[in-house]
Amino acid sequence: MKLTTSQRWERSKRWLRRHYPLPFNCIVKLIPKLVDQAECEFREYPRPRKFIVRVCRERSFELRVEGLLHEWAHCMTWFGLDDKDHGEVWSIVYGRLYDAHCNWDYGRKRKPKEDDNQ
Ligand SMILES: [Zn+2]
Repeated sequence: MKLTTSQRWERSKRWLRRHYPLPFNCIVKLIPKLVDQAECEFREYPRPRKFIVRVCRERSFELRVEGLLHEWAHCMTWFGLDDKDHGEVWSIVYGRLYDAHCNWDYGRKRKPKEDDNQ
């Protein structure tokens, strides 16, 4: 089944929320004119506290997903041990997310390869 990019985008957000839950709700927005590929912040007020991830709508789908995973890793490590933005813990988490997302394939069943039964 061929999925559109907006279906894959929605599935990616659901997949992250389900498999990599955050301590607070996260609002993900596609922004038409964002200087960076993506950015995130943690907002104390107004309550409830929340993360906000903004992703540049003008980038390719692959870059939008990469930006989402990058910022999600920031949210996951926001209250962690790293003393810089892209520290050791963030790197491990981002690598894990990136790898898992690549293998997940948007919830489609993987086609068996010819040599799987050998
Ligand atoms: Zn970053």
